[in-house]
Amino acid sequence: MAELSQPATVLSVTDLTPHVRQLVVNPKTSRISFQPGQWVSLKLPVGPKPPLNRAYSMADPSSPYGELTLVFDRVSGGLGSNYLYELRSGDEVILSGPYGNFILPQPLDRELLLIGRYTGLVPMRCLLKQMLFSKIQTPVLLIALAPNENEVLFHQEWLTMPLQYPSFRYLPLVAQNGESEAVEKTLAMLAPLVKGQPKVAPMLCGTKAFVRPLRTFFTEKGYDRKEVKIETYN
Ligand SMILES: Cc1cc2nc3c(=O)[nH]c(=O)nc-3n(C[C@H](O)[C@H](O)[C@H](O)COP(=O)(O)OP(=O)(O)OC[C@H]3O[C@@H](n4cnc5c(N)ncnc54)[C@H](O)[C@@H]3O)c2cc1C
Repeated sequence: MAELSQPATVLSVTDLTPHVRQLVVNPKTSRISFQPGQWVSLKLPVGPKPPLNRAYSMADPSSPYGELTLVFDRVSGGLGSNYLYELRSGDEVILSGPYGNFILPQPLDRELLLIGRYTGLVPMRCLLKQMLFSKIQTPVLLIALAPNENEVLFHQEWLTMPLQYPSFRYLPLVAQNGESEAVEKTLAMLAPLVKGQPKVAPMLCGTKAFVRPLRTFFTEKGYDRKEVKIETYN
């Protein structure tokens, strides 16, 4: 059954970094129940053939009030993200959902290895907040890539997370020369962590140029494609 498209009111607009913004929106018609890792589709009144559909992952788990937290970067020349940057509190946006399968593997019987680049970290933030809230104690290693030092997302939050979640480890990396450098730096970290070790549960998110070579790394190390969860943004 098609998901209902409905208007949502923008409740707040917050800049997280110079190029990343958070919108909290409140669906007006019916509450959207979702699992961490899922996304909503926004129908934006721009482009040659409006609406322009763009997907955004939830950055916070379900709240009792039903509002959704979306976090996105301003893509240079990007129609969708630049439109979203014009929205102010009180404006409306049309959305539907939830969609997607980028959710925690079940059963979660291995260490979780989360690898995200830039806004590819958004669904991971949602997953981690839910794990913390549900007191799931599965060991987690998060490798977080940023395109430069001013664009490191959720850094303070993850630095302090081991205080509440002792089996959480956080490795932030900055790669200024695009996805290829980000892949290179990630692989340099991964090789010793994966070689000769028990299998982990990898979840990878970002653009295809980032995610696909990392998935290949895991399949070459003997992982089945289904054991490597991915979400690609383009
Ligand atoms: C399932 C799913 C979930 C997503 N969740 C998020 C999210 O939580 N936050 C978010 O910022 N984006 C997310 N995206 C991407 C988002 O839907 C848009 O593609 C992005 O905002 C760019 O749209 P645009 O119209 O501004 O740019 P377009 O004109 O469509 O240009 C996109 C180009 O910009 C580059 N680019 C830079 N940053 C991004 C980015 N974040 N996503 C995609 N392409 C990028 C790519 O090279 C791509 O080819 C998600 C995409 C999918 C498919």
